Amino acid sequence: MNLVTVLDLIRFGHARTRPELTEYSGLGRTIVAQQLDLLLDLGLVGDGRLAPSTGGRAPRSVSFRAEAGSLLVAELGATSLAAGVSDLNADLIVQHEESFDIGRGPEQALERLGEVLEALIEKSGVHRASLWGLGVGVPGPVEFSTGRSISPPIMPGWDNYPIRQHLADRFGLPVWVDNDVNLMALGELRSGRARGEQSVVYVKIGTGIGAGIVCEGKLYRGAQGCAGDIGHVGVREGSEVVCRCGNRGCLEALAGGAALARDGTFAAASGQSPYLATVLEEGREITGEEITKAAQRGDPVSVELLLHCGRLVGEVLATIVNFYNPALVLVGGGVAAAGDVLLAAIRETVYRRSLPLATRDLHVYFSPLGDQAGLCGSAAMVTDELFAPSQIARWLERGSPAGMVDLTTTLAT
Ligand SMILES: [Zn+2]
Repeated sequence: MNLVTVLDLIRFGHARTRPELTEYSGLGRTIVAQQLDLLLDLGLVGDGRLAPSTGGRAPRSVSFRAEAGSLLVAELGATSLAAGVSDLNADLIVQHEESFDIGRGPEQALERLGEVLEALIEKSGVHRASLWGLGVGVPGPVEFSTGRSISPPIMPGWDNYPIRQHLADRFGLPVWVDNDVNLMALGELRSGRARGEQSVVYVKIGTGIGAGIVCEGKLYRGAQGCAGDIGHVGVREGSEVVCRCGNRGCLEALAGGAALARDGTFAAASGQSPYLATVLEEGREITGEEITKAAQRGDPVSVELLLHCGRLVGEVLATIVNFYNPALVLVGGGVAAAGDVLLAAIRETVYRRSLPLATRDLHVYFSPLGDQAGLCGSAAMVTDELFAPSQIARWLERGSPAGMVDLTTTLAT
């Protein structure tokens, strides 16, 4: 526990010298010195240059050695596959993204992911023995304890699929799996705009819609792992629109990227939007991205579609803001790239529908990490697990968690 306290102070940049470590940890000088020696021996911390003196002898600074190990990270989206190799600070050394339909099923998706990761390991020049773990996000509910996706609405064939086992067998690494939006929230918490924040809601508006929750400075997964899954909240009583989950009137079915594409296609075919009709005539499919482009070029129908999407998301967010009182709401995902029209509609609805006290210091911004958030979050998930007090104790003596596939299993007590 003391070791992790000292490590985290250094890892998150809160303390850079021995006197700072003693002050911020609340531990005695001798204990700090012992833990620091251990971390130096492990190669997790390096002794750096002399820090500026505050009077007297200048203390030597210490820093986290993010290069001590490497991580494989991946994010499967509804229509994309992204992967990378990162250091222990979630900085990506190499990365790759390609189109991939998640509906092709787990065998094909994980086979392709395996090939992409193999190529990335090669390209990064990272030694296999220095790979410490693998983190992957998927676009559906994940039971975090087992690494299985459970009844995912947009992932046919993935129900109860042992994603962790599949990847652990292939790479011989401890593997953690989570919902993609949880990982985006975690990525923003560690490397983006949410850094240092205690209460954050991250909303992803892509093909689907979901949210990740940061509570007391940590990712909050809930009892089973699906906290924040707001895409299937019912927003329109009596709606005729059937969602992929089988219910009617879900937020995702009315405001997600697929909904924009459907409504935009209708507007093109019915002659309401000459701009979108031209898109169809040119042989292109109307996607959320096309609607965004059309709105930026002034197509009033596309602007209205984005406003509608923003208002619906804003209504659900207002409920969350009233219920949870976050300090920060970050909006990300493919449709979020639509820009200011969407964000303005979300903000306006949230502020209008929430309690004044809940919005007094509330900020609503775009996710600055954008499509990097998921991969950064995958890396942060793995380091959080590897450096958790109960885990680090299991690999401390070996000096590295490399190859310890069973780290993901909970110890019998
Ligand atoms: Zn639904």
